[in-house]
Amino acid sequence: MDLRQGIGLRKLGKTADEFQQDLLSNLYYRRGTTVESASARDAYEALAQTVRDHLAERRARTAAAQFASNPRWVYYLSAEYLLGAQLEQNLLYSGTGDLAAEAVKALGFGLEDLEDLDVEPGLGNGGLGRLAACLVDSLATRDIPAVGYGIRYDLGIFRQVITEEGQAELPDDWAFHGNPWEFPAPDDRQAVGFYGHTEPIPGSTTRKVWVPGEVVLGEPSHMLVPGFGTETVNIIRLWSAKASEASFDLSRFSAGQYAEAVQEAVRAENISKVLYPDDSTELGRELRLKQQYFLVSCSLRDIVRRFRLRNEGWDTFADKTVIQLNDTHPTIAIPELMRLLVDEYEVEWEQAWEITRRTFAYTCHTLLPEALETWPVRMFEKLLPRHLEIIYLINMLFLREVEARFPGDHDRLRRMSIIQEDPERRVRMAHLAVVGTEAVNGVAELHSKLLRETVLDDFAALWPAKFQNVTNGVSPRRFIKIANPRLSDLITEGLGDDSWVGDLERLAGLERLADDASFRERWQAIKRANKVDLAAGDPDSLTDVMIKRFHEYKRQQLKLLHVITLYQRIRQNPAADWVPRTVLFAGKAAPAYHAAKDIIRLIATIAARIEADPVVSPYLKVVFPSNYNVTLAERIIPAADLSEQISLAGKEASGTGNMKLALNGAVTIGTLDGANIEIRARVGEDNFFLFGLDAYEAARARINGYQPRHFYERDEELRAAMDTLTSGVFGEVGRRVADSLLGWDEYLTLADFRSYLECQEQVEKSWRDPARWTRMSILNTAHSGFFSSDRTVADYAARIWRVAPVPVPRED
Ligand SMILES: *Cc1c(COP(=O)(O)O)cnc(C)c1O
Repeated sequence: MDLRQGIGLRKLGKTADEFQQDLLSNLYYRRGTTVESASARDAYEALAQTVRDHLAERRARTAAAQFASNPRWVYYLSAEYLLGAQLEQNLLYSGTGDLAAEAVKALGFGLEDLEDLDVEPGLGNGGLGRLAACLVDSLATRDIPAVGYGIRYDLGIFRQVITEEGQAELPDDWAFHGNPWEFPAPDDRQAVGFYGHTEPIPGSTTRKVWVPGEVVLGEPSHMLVPGFGTETVNIIRLWSAKASEASFDLSRFSAGQYAEAVQEAVRAENISKVLYPDDSTELGRELRLKQQYFLVSCSLRDIVRRFRLRNEGWDTFADKTVIQLNDTHPTIAIPELMRLLVDEYEVEWEQAWEITRRTFAYTCHTLLPEALETWPVRMFEKLLPRHLEIIYLINMLFLREVEARFPGDHDRLRRMSIIQEDPERRVRMAHLAVVGTEAVNGVAELHSKLLRETVLDDFAALWPAKFQNVTNGVSPRRFIKIANPRLSDLITEGLGDDSWVGDLERLAGLERLADDASFRERWQAIKRANKVDLAAGDPDSLTDVMIKRFHEYKRQQLKLLHVITLYQRIRQNPAADWVPRTVLFAGKAAPAYHAAKDIIRLIATIAARIEADPVVSPYLKVVFPSNYNVTLAERIIPAADLSEQISLAGKEASGTGNMKLALNGAVTIGTLDGANIEIRARVGEDNFFLFGLDAYEAARARINGYQPRHFYERDEELRAAMDTLTSGVFGEVGRRVADSLLGWDEYLTLADFRSYLECQEQVEKSWRDPARWTRMSILNTAHSGFFSSDRTVADYAARIWRVAPVPVPRED
């Protein structure tokens, strides 16, 4: 007899009174304080725990239902998760918002005050980490059994402060006050090896023993990821590095050598200390590679442990497991799974390789050659000697396959090899990721096409069926329902119900309302109210936003040349009928990326100059709020009129900021790049401002010996703008930016300048007709339904993962 039969959890409060009792109980028994002495932080912590309890109860039912059905699990491996704040989301997803507002009021606090204490875990850099967060949200919303694996960095992406000197970086100790959303699970610790050497096993050619020289512990904690409008609560599991107990040197400590006593422990724990604030170039080198292996090793052991709870043998491993690699950062998972299967579980190499290939899928996120990760062979040799041997063997067998298909084509072998030979021997992670997976996808139509035609063309020729596209998406909960409550209410009213939040294509029903003058007026009034809340500038001005990481390919410098030109035009003719604009920039630059930081500094300088100019400032204002993160994005996006998506065509993989803004009724000015193309196709050419070269024209311009000076010499206004920079009136930094543009202009800024300016004139023409503009705005929202990450996940589930939902029964 099961002694536990009939034992169940006390029901959580469903009424305001009961919710308050639960809250008080958390305040007294978990927080250890009383109503009379509770601080705002006490109230916040107790509230977070109460809301979390609602999700934890659903989590328990989810785990039971998922394990009982023994499905194919989706494991999402990502070095980054840019989750955003948790409280408001969890109130929405648990349906406890109203109860909570009432309960905290009785304690003498406002819900908004407590939301201010809810710190966003900044465990990602930008688009890639935010995509991971949107996908885990939609996986739960679609009832797909899934776990997201990541690293619990002590310090997230740096806190940015903007001054006239440019960007300053401060550490982001996001969990300084603790993190009430997290459950530590020290029992599921894993040991991770590094360094050391390998030893042969007599009688085996493929198996080896790896004797690591250093062992570090990975300790997991998990955060709950609730689905919207469903019972499912999945988790993300984040690993922290811990030194083993033996690493504290008591005898040195006793001898007063305090630093030396903890030296080894510090070294071990450094692995999860910081998120590298750069998503395109390699810094921190060995420590970064250590982080990657740390994530992979802990996660794979956890995945194997979970598999073995329900299954025996290895035959069904790939039927029960799909591991999605979010870019190449977790690609060492491929040789690591081979090592586990071959060395530790004694599976034959061929079978292990078959399992591995069927288990993994890889999402590529870039087209920039410098962002394609490679690691020096000698670093691998030292840090992960056994993995290098396995990679060599994988590569040898792979090149044999290529040779069989293309006999004698040595150049092809050299191009495709996982090992790059010149100028230095390096491991090409993207090649390893393509060879070791069943499916490879790009993140927008154009991106997937360019991957097949350029970066991975040899692989596409060998395995055409492996290459797919899954266009990115964003969570409609976070990026409209929560971020833009006013617009959400109007949409719900216009469509008759709120089912669009879980079924975003329903927004198409707004199309007929675009011609309704009173609906348009209310739409416009909401945009205005959102601008008043943002308080960035005159709410009646055209709010023109460029919010994203600073990178030369994204071309903030092009926007800046537009600002300088407007400035000069207004000065020359102050009496003309100017359209007032507020230009808002936000975004971080990698600390070592000097060219990007120069652009930030130049923006800050020019903003101050315009502010101080009584002739120009009534029409033009440049603002740069510090520390762009998800929380700030949620404030800016609802207030945006114009969305700047002006990267050089062929460089932005997809973009997701473009989707968030269109969804909130900002009209895009953009190039034919990334998902802009798909946005334009859906919202309609008349509701999108297109300019610039396309990807093929851009590539051809470069090949044909592009000369930025040519454009400088032929365009008087461009020359005036550049000459102002060169003159030094905006300081040395203006000179540096101008020199770089006139000298080489890697991203063809000057080539697209005139087209961009003309297009901005079209923008102003449309803006002068509010009925027309508002119609465009409504149609952007109406046709953004495709860009829900719920659709993205459905695409992955059907075409790449081949998994089905496992619904979780309701509480009886
Ligand atoms: C959406 C988002 C991004 C990605 O923006 P892109 O314009 O696609 O580069 C980056 N950072 C944050 C905080 C975001 O919310």
